Amino acid sequence: MRCAVLSDIHGNLIALEAVLRDIEKKGGVDHYWSLGDIVDYGPQPHLCLERIFQLNALGVVGNHEYALTGQMDLKEFSESVTVVTRWTRQQMTTDDMSFLKNLPLTISSGFFTLAHGSPRDPVREYLLSGQDAAQNLSYFGTPYCLVGHTHVPLCFSFPVQNNGQSDRPTSQAPRPLSQACWEQLISRNQLGESLIQLTENRLIINPGSVGQPRDHDPRAAYAVFDSTHNTLELRRVEYDIAATQRRMAELRLPEWLIQRLSQGE
Ligand code: ZN
Repeated sequence: MRCAVLSDIHGNLIALEAVLRDIEKKGGVDHYWSLGDIVDYGPQPHLCLERIFQLNALGVVGNHEYALTGQMDLKEFSESVTVVTRWTRQQMTTDDMSFLKNLPLTISSGFFTLAHGSPRDPVREYLLSGQDAAQNLSYFGTPYCLVGHTHVPLCFSFPVQNNGQSDRPTSQAPRPLSQACWEQLISRNQLGESLIQLTENRLIINPGSVGQPRDHDPRAAYAVFDSTHNTLELRRVEYDIAATQRRMAELRLPEWLIQRLSQGE
């Protein structure tokens, strides 16, 4: 079974279509998972939602969807973001809004938990440090967790004592880690394109962002889980950034949002 992991599409349909073509070119997948923030910032939020709906993706809610549906106060965003979120809200149909409202905060599927920001605080926490990642281990019961939100591909790896009965971690109740050993135990890899072998270590992985990468690589980022080889492959794909930027300019979306796409930040 192969499953594509898409996060932070942010209304960038041109990037999403490039990712979907890349997936097909490389043999396709059986399922799609979405880690939230399908909409907001980009020029084609409704069409991105429609595409994700057609893919029958299993998905969690992002902070932008939470704000759009009124479950989070827009005051939590800066004024410059609020302007765009209000515009995005106007592009949503009634069906779009009810789809977004029904997205869960977290999902567990097989060996994975999905959350937008973190399992501890799904719509707010940015997981960028090993210490924060370690504190999240007790908030999910599966071996692996997939998160988005930072738009930066990352893998936090935590060794787990094997119970000797299985090659797989069975840590429903993970061992607590003292703060002193965090730095030794955690390997925090910033990832470009790479193949992660899923081992007995507990992992928290961020596949990066489809529609607005922020790791100084402007190419769209996504991942594919392969259950046969037990791997998660992080991929990057070029898309027509200028075409997305032209659409945004036509819609008079803010210049800072347009510029950051070509810089990947
Ligand atoms: Zn986002």
